[in-house]
Amino acid sequence: MRGQPQDFDRVLSSMCTPPHPVARDAAERFLATNPGDPGTYQTAADLEDRAVDLLGEVVGLSDPTGYIASGGTEANIQAVRMARNRAVSSDPNVVVPESAHFSFQKAADVLALELRIAPLTDDYTVDLGAVRRFCDDDTAAVVGVAGSTEYGRVDPIPELGDIADENDALLHVDAAWGGFVLPFTDHEWNFDHASVDTMTIDPHKMGMAAIPAGGLLAREPELFDALAVDTPYLESAKQATLTGTRSGAGVASAAAVMEECWPEGYRENYEQARDNAAWFADALRERDFDVVEPDLPIVSADVPTDLFEELRDEGWRVSRTADDEMRVVMMPHVTREVLDAFVADLDRLRPTANMNT
Ligand SMILES: *Cc1c(COP(=O)(O)O)cnc(C)c1O
Repeated sequence: MRGQPQDFDRVLSSMCTPPHPVARDAAERFLATNPGDPGTYQTAADLEDRAVDLLGEVVGLSDPTGYIASGGTEANIQAVRMARNRAVSSDPNVVVPESAHFSFQKAADVLALELRIAPLTDDYTVDLGAVRRFCDDDTAAVVGVAGSTEYGRVDPIPELGDIADENDALLHVDAAWGGFVLPFTDHEWNFDHASVDTMTIDPHKMGMAAIPAGGLLAREPELFDALAVDTPYLESAKQATLTGTRSGAGVASAAAVMEECWPEGYRENYEQARDNAAWFADALRERDFDVVEPDLPIVSADVPTDLFEELRDEGWRVSRTADDEMRVVMMPHVTREVLDAFVADLDRLRPTANMNT
């Protein structure tokens, strides 16, 4: 095998980052375990309980029920599945913001549900009036995003909880990326702040766990009963996960890194990311690019397509939003030195207005 894994020096587009050393070590040691079979792989199953308890601390839930999923996609599909399975309607719908991750499209497709897509306001959070209008007796769940994939915005979660309650629907919060930075902000986003029923939070993104480690949590254990199937050949009687055999590496790495980094290590990450986002946004504005003001540490800015392509040709892994802005995610590996080097390349490549003066 001659392939080399991705080097992170120029990766500005990813929501993943090299695993923390303790996560890497735990992942290697637990590579051959399967927490999907807890009767056989007892230690991996115990580590999963530990990981879920730690996730509960991160999201303000003292007695959490949940599991380590393959990622945010599986967690979102499962949350929507819970809502559908408990809905009384024969034609259920789910109301999501336009900023919702594309995994909700997959969920709606797999589960044969109607997805009602509520528009955003000028600050890229969901329009509450639209959510109210879209909800009806057939609404099984309302989704709020806490840290949107393109702009790092946080929907008004407490208000969405009220709307969900009024419609006897579940509130699912997607904090797949934002969950490990939000605890250090003033946002109201978690189980303690609002009537949140379920939440996605991915250790393999800002949590610095090895892939695959997503997280799904529920306030009430009964919600998982809506997913449980009998498991005839296993020692455990029921299984509520979507996958069968699962990665003990993801589970063990998530437990190990949260044990190590919650809360102080994650706070340091957040502060670095926040400061870098502010610095980078300023640097772009000084160069006359239109910048979407960062809330959580993701910076998007209007960069012309040809310049964007030249930066990609230099090896910079940058990505674009649906509106064609360049998007940079301030992951732990995106240090000030990395951003300095990027801005230096930007200055070298961009056509400047006063070049001949
Ligand atoms: C990344 C992301 C997802 C999908 O998670 P995967 O781990 O890639 O499956 C879902 N929602 C949000 C908000 C995300 O940022």
